[in-house]
Amino acid sequence: MAGTLYLVPTPIGNLGDISQRCREILESADFIAAEDTRVTLKLLNHLGIKKSLVSYYEHNKAYRGDKILERLLAGETCALVSDAGTPAISDPGKDLVRQCADAGIPVCAIPGPCAAITALCVSGQPTDRFCFEGFLSTAKKSRREHLDSLRSEQRTMIFYEAPHKLLATLEDMAAAFGPDRPISLCRELTKLHEEVIRTTLGQAVEAYAQTPPKGEFVLVLAGAPPVEKQSASEEDAAALVARLMEEGLSRKDAVKQAAARLDLPKNVVYEIALKDAP
Ligand code: SAM
Repeated sequence: MAGTLYLVPTPIGNLGDISQRCREILESADFIAAEDTRVTLKLLNHLGIKKSLVSYYEHNKAYRGDKILERLLAGETCALVSDAGTPAISDPGKDLVRQCADAGIPVCAIPGPCAAITALCVSGQPTDRFCFEGFLSTAKKSRREHLDSLRSEQRTMIFYEAPHKLLATLEDMAAAFGPDRPISLCRELTKLHEEVIRTTLGQAVEAYAQTPPKGEFVLVLAGAPPVEKQSASEEDAAALVARLMEEGLSRKDAVKQAAARLDLPKNVVYEIALKDAP
């Protein structure tokens, strides 16, 4: 009988956040697959656990995934951990889960620390509907395209970001969503210098242009305000298409965005936009 793959979340800052169940699984697993064995060794030393470790990370996941699968199929149990937080969320793991699912190997996800959910809960932004957007691309063009695709998103949006890219990201966000859009910058969560800054995109850009950001950040961005279908007049649609085109969108994309935001059929907005075209 095949063994089980356990997804074991580890603390994102405060070592006290490791749960009893996670300890037990780390102790009882036949082996641990870790994103960085040196980071995990420190945690295991802290917990007083000695266990055989193999690495599983972005650049060896194809080869190592097969090896881990072989051991699971032979009946061993494996605990998968990343450097911090929940494996498979912007961290190695999802491919291994897929491989196990395809091979009929049981996968068990243990609940625990996750920077995205911790940030959302403390952000003060609406939590009833949200989406996780992970890291934006480092390439300017794809980053902007990603943000453009979210212009009419009404759910709260969660992003991960590295401190050295934060200012450029906030500037791109202010361009895409406007400077008045509320954002919560959740920094160093669960750590000594934990901080939650609830502000707007414009103010965040100003603040970080003066003082470069430090530490780990999750950005929790408010969604677009809902637009009532009935209140969307031809004038609104024409003005919105014109504004989006001024912001750099093609007519086709501007029509698509405006139609989604105003909850109107694309062809109707297209006709309105054409009537207004110079
Ligand atoms: N899988 C992890 C999780 O579920 O929490 C996330 C891993 S991802 C590679 C690392 C990113 O998570 C960081 O760049 C940062 O955006 C966010 N992060 C991790 N720990 C954090 C913390 N203590 N405070 C704020 N953000 C954190």
